[in-house]
Amino acid sequence: MRGIRAYWGFVALAALVVAWGNSDSVPLIAILSLAVTAYALFQVPVWCGAVNRDGRTYCRKNASGILMGCSLRQHRWQKMKMIVPRSKMGDVSRAVFPTTKEKFAAFLAVGGLASAVAAVIVPVVTGQG
Ligand SMILES: [Zn+2]
Repeated sequence: MRGIRAYWGFVALAALVVAWGNSDSVPLIAILSLAVTAYALFQVPVWCGAVNRDGRTYCRKNASGILMGCSLRQHRWQKMKMIVPRSKMGDVSRAVFPTTKEKFAAFLAVGGLASAVAAVIVPVVTGQG
């Protein structure tokens, strides 16, 4: 039963959309937003995407989260190191987002974060907080 547990972030995302539409609860929206972000960064099922030893292909093992690599420790390090600034951006985007699925995971991470920020800022700006 890997299914439901692996995809709980999408349940959180659905709950977040509902919360944005119906709820005035800023803490609820903020928590759901951060949950979606954390899910995308650390848990969403994606490809590892680290560069293989031949330097041309990318690891296609399963990994959890766009920041995580597969079971090979070297691959996890490689992804961590690629995320630090001044690395080659082309390599990072290809390795971290090789497919639409990974791009969508990145979108979730950014969107979740934006949603969390918006949940806190919008009531302040509109004076409804
Ligand atoms: Zn790997």
